[in-house]
Amino acid sequence: MSTYGIDLGTTYSCIARLDSNGNPEVIRNNEDDSNTVASVVFFENENNVVVGQAAKENVETDGERVVQFVKREIGKRDTRTYEFDGKTYTPVEISALILTRLKNLVEAQGGTIEDVVITVPAYFGLEERSATKQAGELAGLHVLSLINEPTAAALSYCARQFQEDRTILVYDLGGGTFDVTVVKMTMAQNSSGHDVQKITVLATGGDDRLGGKDWDDRLFNYILHACCDENGLTPEEVEAETRQDIRSKVEEAKRKLSKKQSAKVRIDVNGSRTEISITRADFEQMTSDIVAKTMNFVDATLEKVPGVEIDTVLLVGGSTYMPMIIDAVEAKFPGKVQQHDPDQAVAKGAAIYASMLVEEVDSLSAQGEENSEGTPARAEQLTSKFTVEDQTPRSFGPGVVDTKGAKHKYVLENFIKIGEKMPAVFSKTYYPLEDNQERVLLRAFENMSTDDTLIPCVDEDGNPQATDPAHNVKLLGELVVNLPPNTSRDTPIKVTFKVDASGVHVEAVNTKTDETFETFLRTESDIDVAKSAVHQLRISSD
Ligand code: ADP
Ligand code: MG
Repeated sequence: MSTYGIDLGTTYSCIARLDSNGNPEVIRNNEDDSNTVASVVFFENENNVVVGQAAKENVETDGERVVQFVKREIGKRDTRTYEFDGKTYTPVEISALILTRLKNLVEAQGGTIEDVVITVPAYFGLEERSATKQAGELAGLHVLSLINEPTAAALSYCARQFQEDRTILVYDLGGGTFDVTVVKMTMAQNSSGHDVQKITVLATGGDDRLGGKDWDDRLFNYILHACCDENGLTPEEVEAETRQDIRSKVEEAKRKLSKKQSAKVRIDVNGSRTEISITRADFEQMTSDIVAKTMNFVDATLEKVPGVEIDTVLLVGGSTYMPMIIDAVEAKFPGKVQQHDPDQAVAKGAAIYASMLVEEVDSLSAQGEENSEGTPARAEQLTSKFTVEDQTPRSFGPGVVDTKGAKHKYVLENFIKIGEKMPAVFSKTYYPLEDNQERVLLRAFENMSTDDTLIPCVDEDGNPQATDPAHNVKLLGELVVNLPPNTSRDTPIKVTFKVDASGVHVEAVNTKTDETFETFLRTESDIDVAKSAVHQLRISSD
């Protein structure tokens, strides 16, 4: 089987597939003796790029040649780039290096890798999603689809122990991000009338700047100050090597404290050996405010689904190994908490989803009697038991002209709103602004508002306008719709937006000629906003 699921994490990444019995299994990273690969890249010199734990060990001493937390940069506007040995790397290219390392794990063990599903945080917008997909393609992978991380975690849980309808809260505390998701699991019938387990996402929340790193930083400071006290130094007097020594031991100490009541670290402080002892109680005290912060996000997410009763809380993400997290969640949801494969659940769920998709394709081609290899019965047994219904991460719609009133207004009409079921489809008919218009430039926007219409959403040059920065209006791209000569302003142009976990598809049909214009909007689409001040579509108002 050459289908894999990949959890491309902020701090750790993981790759999984289904074994010969249809059960998900993680591909071991033997080099680091781990189930995961640290998402850290060290550009040692122009001939050597290191990914994983070895790269992480250079963070403090060669920090300027190390890239970490690149997931926070992927798909962002005005993306930063990284320069090493005269070469420039984008976050997409750095992510591709991490994905290549995962691909190499498979190949080193004699496997082949073709189709993959990559996971993304539920809050990722379209640009972050398409950048993630691009990174996969750049690494030579065929990206079947993306799936939201909490949905993948729920899918892997469901595959293992689904018994009855229930509502689950996924508490995913990773290295750099925190996600809360409420999902409902029910029995339903699929299109061919078979009973399937349906996973529906009800609400999402969290913080993309909160994770295990915050615990590491607190511990780092604690140890640094303890080292200073022992040696009569100020923090400024501590050498870079010493800081690296502390940095490289902090995470290990944190992991020890998840198992034991105390941990000792030996640090070489400016050449003098120093032993620092930390108790779990100390560690819990110095980080209690961050634990409380995560619980506030849990409350805020629950407020989005009033009246919903949580049956089970799934703890996923490496940081949920910390007893203080288990205790805090247990205190709020007594008897309902389950730790579920914290560092592997997401990759395993993605592997299950990948085989679901491959199976769908296979059964489609079997129907067309073109499938010479036969459908994989094994995968079918497991995967055809599920169906996934996720939510849209943003609102989406076109920019059009409202001709009502004395002055024309350019407005954004939200076709699909944040939190709607995916795939979401919506169509509306518009008209050319004027007679004999040669073309229409249809702009597609993403935003965080739940309003039907945003006014005004762009300035005269077509740039998104920050009337309310919280709406986070982004121009995704535009579709050129050419019109035949003598097109009247009464020609209906039907515009359709379709959103699924992998992106937004926009289509415009000239219903007089049946001519269809469509595109998958991409981040890097070359948008010449200047030329599009005219050539608009209008809302039917006259
Ligand atoms: P990502 O954010 O990349 O999805 P993971 O879910 O793999 O990350 O979580 C990584 C985080 O979990 C890191 O901060 C790591 O230090 C932490 N972690 C892993 N194992 C443990 C443990 N046993 N105790 C405490 N923290 C842990
Ligand atoms: Mg994760």
